[in-house]
Amino acid sequence: MRRGIIDGKAAAAQIRRRAAEIAARLRDDHGVVCGLAVVLVGEDPASRVYVRNKSSQTREVGMNSFEHRLSADASEDELLALIAKLNRDAAVDGILVQLPLPPHMSSDRVINAIAPHKDVDGFHISNVGLLGTGQRALVPCTPLGCMMMLKEVHGDLSGLEAVIVGRSNIVGKPLAQLLIAANCTVTVAHSRTRDLPSVCRRADILVAAVGRPEMIRGDWIKPGASVIDVGINRVERDGKFRLVGDVDFGEATSVAGAITPVPGGVGPMTIACLLVNTLTAAHRARNLPEPV
Ligand code: NDP
Repeated sequence: MRRGIIDGKAAAAQIRRRAAEIAARLRDDHGVVCGLAVVLVGEDPASRVYVRNKSSQTREVGMNSFEHRLSADASEDELLALIAKLNRDAAVDGILVQLPLPPHMSSDRVINAIAPHKDVDGFHISNVGLLGTGQRALVPCTPLGCMMMLKEVHGDLSGLEAVIVGRSNIVGKPLAQLLIAANCTVTVAHSRTRDLPSVCRRADILVAAVGRPEMIRGDWIKPGASVIDVGINRVERDGKFRLVGDVDFGEATSVAGAITPVPGGVGPMTIACLLVNTLTAAHRARNLPEPV
């Protein structure tokens, strides 16, 4: 096991270099320029930053980035028509609709309108079902990034006790499926879990995906455990805004065997995995052997 602070930024940079090689091979050997379409509805400031980062990193690795922006008052039908067009577009290998959507739209309806083989966020009900039944799916990017980091730390995860705090469809539940598939014993905790600190103390792998700043304290962590902090919380300290995770990093570092920082842990891996998924989708769509 590798100990210490898990450098998600460095790991993501390595994945991007590999993605650039794969994208170049796809172009040189098969004449295919891989393309990712990102759809943003409205003006949510955090979503705009995410979309900008996703698009620029897509271009940096030599893939096409197609950005589509709809106003906050666009109708759901307009968005569905755009998705139908992108589904048909051969230049588009992956489609991502940035969430959250405005309240007058159903994110379930919108996500399920994306062609499953282009659903690079892995949120379509078909991909959810494939993942849950151990079949070949497009896997949600944040859980995929968490698994890559855990495998780097531990190698084989078989038999380890994993506790995930948070049961969202985008992080907690798909990560639970991946950890089960990797032979972990998995507990998914949430807001109704009783005595959360003692549940967390059982974990060899503790994942926090809650959205509550520094909720998980040092004495909730089993000495030597690997801690993956998915949370991104903006807090004000001494008159300045900064990002913190769901784990009290200061306390946790002296107990954990390995831990991801916020920022610079899970966040960069999520975008890198989006590029990986887009390349995977491009290969599968053409029946090409998937890059490893
Ligand atoms: P959701 O709000 O969808 O889910 C939060 C989960 O935390 C729920 O299951 C909720 O339980 C649980 N929870 C809330 N309060 C408590 C509590 N006091 N004790 C135990 N469990 C609790 O969040 P997301 O999964 O979308 O995101 C979680 C965090 O991860 C956020 O900070 C988000 O910004 C971040 N994030 C980061 C990403 C990255 O790339 N780094 C990507 C995606 C998310 P219940 O179900 O009972 O309500």
